[in-house]
Amino acid sequence: MKAQSRAAASADESAESSRGLGTAPIIFAPVKAHSLTDITIVGGGPTGLFGAFYAGMRGATARIVDALPALGGQLMALYPEKYIYDVAGFPKVLAKDLVRDMSAQALQFGCDIRLGETVTGLSRVEDPEGGIGHFILETSDGDYPTKTVLIAAGIGAFEPRKLPLAAAETWEGKGLYDKVLEPKLFGGRKVLIVGGGDSALDWTLNLMGIAQSITLVHRRDQFRGHAATVKQVMEHAERGACEVRVFTEVGEIHGKESIEAVTLVNTRTKETVRLPMEIVIPQLGFHSDLGAIREWGLDTDKADIKVTSEMQTNVPGIYAAGDITSYPGKLKLIATGVSEACIAVNNAVHYINPKTKVNPGHSSNLAIFGESET
Ligand SMILES: Cc1cc2nc3c(=O)[nH]c(=O)nc-3n(C[C@H](O)[C@H](O)[C@H](O)COP(=O)(O)OP(=O)(O)OC[C@H]3O[C@@H](n4cnc5c(N)ncnc54)[C@H](O)[C@@H]3O)c2cc1C
Repeated sequence: MKAQSRAAASADESAESSRGLGTAPIIFAPVKAHSLTDITIVGGGPTGLFGAFYAGMRGATARIVDALPALGGQLMALYPEKYIYDVAGFPKVLAKDLVRDMSAQALQFGCDIRLGETVTGLSRVEDPEGGIGHFILETSDGDYPTKTVLIAAGIGAFEPRKLPLAAAETWEGKGLYDKVLEPKLFGGRKVLIVGGGDSALDWTLNLMGIAQSITLVHRRDQFRGHAATVKQVMEHAERGACEVRVFTEVGEIHGKESIEAVTLVNTRTKETVRLPMEIVIPQLGFHSDLGAIREWGLDTDKADIKVTSEMQTNVPGIYAAGDITSYPGKLKLIATGVSEACIAVNNAVHYINPKTKVNPGHSSNLAIFGESET
């Protein structure tokens, strides 16, 4: 992390939020007219969204920055159409519906949302009068001054693993999709799903009744997905609702303007078969990259950021929550992420203004929701 000198800083007090928590005098660095925010949240997944809600509930200003074009993190990017069963209050809920409601909850206090911006750097601006100073969070599109940072970056800025075929890229958008965002696109089409994990198995099940035919290929005969899902897929295959080919990989994709056929290769015998096909959906997992966050001098445990029980990293003013954190007993779940977000935000508001209590009290009793505080 870089430290900025006072000389490098210039005043832009007009940009300061009128609803901040208030703290020691702050030096303003040159910014593109972005306001000084109490808490800037890196990541708009479920953890970041709940962090934004909690910040608003505590009277703190918040901003979410996310590299993806939509809020929701893994839920929208990887499994929008899947049901989630272990979120409190919902016997089952579609991932995209949970994101819709979490976004409504998060945005009710006017959180500033910056989508499609990857965080590229962070520098610290010291306060010569001994206050907490502030950070400048740099993204691909701008510099955001902020008193604290909450890293809710999940598994990092992630990209689906590509089909290992030289010409794969040329088929993107012409029938090759590494994300299933809109299942109806595949209605009545011949679909090939590639992979052996939960996503490949789940989409095999979820596209049944939508696609004209579904073929699942996996280069081994052991699937990595949940045993119950593997069993379900195999039962459907036995009754002819889908086809499963193990020890198989994609050798070639054929077509003119769009995919018309694929050549599949048996990984043991090297025998090939050409099948008519219109859609290819590789579900091979994803790469994740902490990117610039790696350079911030944070203590890490492999790719995860170590935090205290207050969700504080080793750098004062920088908190982390959700899938990106590491501590003994950590569970990477939506339920734990939102709980950590609330711990992180409560500690961040106390860090900004030590007169503010860490403990927020109960939401059912807060004036911000129109209740009388007792
Ligand atoms: C197929 C699948 C099914 C799942 N099912 C369940 C389930 O049933 N129940 C459950 O509890 N959990 C489930 N999970 C796990 C759950 O999705 C995660 O625990 C949850 O998404 C973590 O939320 P998060 O906000 O911490 O991180 P994420 O959802 O990963 O969001 C992090 C966000 O940060 C952004 N980001 C990262 N780095 C940067 C950067 N440098 N600059 C800008 N933005 C950045 C990313 O773009 C992303 O949007 C499932 C996961 C998968 C893959």
